[in-house]
Order: sequence, then C-alpha cells, then structure tokens
Amino acid sequence: MVDPMPRRILVAPSILIADFSRLGEEVAALEAAGADWVHCDVMDGHFTVPITFGPVVVRSLRPLTGLFLDCHLMVTNPQRHIPQFVEAGADGISIQIEVGEDVGRLLRLIRDLGCRSGLVINPPTPLEGLPALLPLADTVMLMGVMPGYASQAYDPATTGRIARVRQMIDAEGLDTLIEVDGGINAETAPEAVAAGADVIVSSNFVFRHPEGYGAAVRWLKALGRD
Ligand code: ZN
Repeated sequence: MVDPMPRRILVAPSILIADFSRLGEEVAALEAAGADWVHCDVMDGHFTVPITFGPVVVRSLRPLTGLFLDCHLMVTNPQRHIPQFVEAGADGISIQIEVGEDVGRLLRLIRDLGCRSGLVINPPTPLEGLPALLPLADTVMLMGVMPGYASQAYDPATTGRIARVRQMIDAEGLDTLIEVDGGINAETAPEAVAAGADVIVSSNFVFRHPEGYGAAVRWLKALGRD
C-alpha cells in the first residue's frame, strides 16, 4: 500500500509502562525526545480487566509539561468521568464506541468543555456506524489490540481498517486525525502510516527502545514528512 501524500506523523508515547515512581522525569524525557503527545491509558477494571489510573495522574502531570495530554478512557461510564479529566488538564479525551451510550452526545460534550474529541474502536467492532460520527470526532483511534494490556501483538486486520477510515475521512473532506494504539513496532508502524495513520501511540517501542526514547521518536516521525 503506497500513500501518495505522506503526512506529518505525531508520536504519542503511552505512559502505561513508564516508571510511575518518577513519572515527572519520564514525561520530561519524552518531551526532550521530541514526542508530540503524552498518551494516558485510563482503565477502570470494568470496561477492561486491569485498573490503571485516573484524573489525579493527569492533574499531577499538567504543570510539568506543555505536551498535549491525550486521555484514552477505557471506562464503562465515560459521562461520569469526562468533566474530571477536563478539570485535571486533559487536552484530548477519547471514548470507546463500544460503551453503548449516546456516543455522539459525549463527543459533543468533550468539545463543549474545550477538549479535542476522540472516538476509539476495538479490533472486532464494525466500522459501519462511523461515518455518522466522524464530524463530531477530532480523532478516530483504531485499536491494534484489545484494550487491557501493553505488549500484545498487532491485529493484522488493523491496517486495512485504517485505510477504510482514511477513505471515509477523505471522502467527507474532514481533517479528523487517525490514531493507532496497540502492537506498534518497527514492522507495524510503517504499515499503519502507509494506510493513513497520523498519530502513533506506543508504549513498548518507545520505553524499551535499545537506543532510548529520542531514537524511537525520531524513527517513528521519519515515517512521515517533516
Ligand atoms: Zn490508549
């Protein structure tokens, strides 16, 4: 798959496997490494089996960084939590399409509260409902794995799903960004970018890169144009 118009790539390391005992230093290191966004994977122990963290972590990071705080809510009742993440200093808030609530209303709420709105879709979830929601989403995020754990293998169907969403966005003339989250490595990231991804989320590839965070971020950004 060849993308005729390479786009600028934003790199969004997920702090899921950062050292939480020194999280401020970790985020400073990501900023120095050239990361664009800090991806915060919020899991509630209900929508996902694990529990990670809530708005208190976002609030503690807010004064320490100018980076965009990209909050991915893997929670069953996002409407209960969106205002707290806004108040904590989130820049973007993404919700899962599978929550089965009025997703369009929640995306409007996120925008009305001053954040970028994001819609997230798990690997098995059909894309049919997406076109009607696209105008309400500043970002559509395709999951490359089922939410819950770092270090899972990328579902190979994800690349084709990114390409389909790219076509939907371009057909409507929207500037919605496509984000991909889960299973990103040196093989899957180029595929995702070629299919049309704009924002690359990664925990392992950045935090465990043998040459450090800066090398990982530079390598991912080099998949797009300057
Ligand atoms: Zn995420």
